Amino acid sequence: MKTIALRLKSLRDRILDAERLHGRPPGSVALLAVSKTRSAEEIRAARAAGQLRFGENYLQEAMVKMDTLADLDLEWHFIGPIQSNKTREIAARFAWVHSVDRLKIAQRLSATRPPELPPLNVCIQVNIGDESSKSGINLAQLPELAQEIGRLPRLKLRGLMTMPRLTEDQAEQRRQFRDLREGYDRLKAVGNSLDTLSMGTSADLEAAIAEGATIVRVGTDVFGERGADRLA
Ligand SMILES: *Cc1c(COP(=O)(O)O)cnc(C)c1O
Repeated sequence: MKTIALRLKSLRDRILDAERLHGRPPGSVALLAVSKTRSAEEIRAARAAGQLRFGENYLQEAMVKMDTLADLDLEWHFIGPIQSNKTREIAARFAWVHSVDRLKIAQRLSATRPPELPPLNVCIQVNIGDESSKSGINLAQLPELAQEIGRLPRLKLRGLMTMPRLTEDQAEQRRQFRDLREGYDRLKAVGNSLDTLSMGTSADLEAAIAEGATIVRVGTDVFGERGADRLA
């Protein structure tokens, strides 16, 4: 059985190889370790192996782990669906939110971001290629939402996130990520200063890096398979 430290090492090599292969500067792609369903001890092991950023999908679950791990220097990213009654705690406890897809949620996050903290880093979640998914806005609606979020004082709009339709077809993976990157390039062309494309998971991070990902979000290849009882 591989340890978390060994998995992290081979994952970092995989990221470096993809950076090299696609002409990306080494170190230009950050690794977000997705720790949903994982224990505080597993996160501690990853931190001991040098991993700093962790992504969580469920607020309640995340807060328990944050409290247990308060002695560690960790950067927490919220990547799950956001219920409007949870925005205050998300705004208080996370450094980043990748899954903003409605103005109302963005307004609430901005209004409740504690004044002693820097502005909350956010990405807009875009729904690419999966009509059935309810998370994420369409590319067509993106410019307007980006403009409105850009005006909110306590948020810093960093870029875009997507969770594309799963496919093993690499050309199709790349096509989906390219759609997101083109939406990102169009936003930058009209004056948004963005630096983040959050795309790619265990299954498709090479395709995402080829198309310009700056953060890949990886769970399985850091911590091992999520068991059937921990699919959440
Ligand atoms: C679970 C999850 C991931 C990581 O997926 P893996 O297949 O475990 O690498 C990435 N992003 C989001 C939004 C997730 O929910």
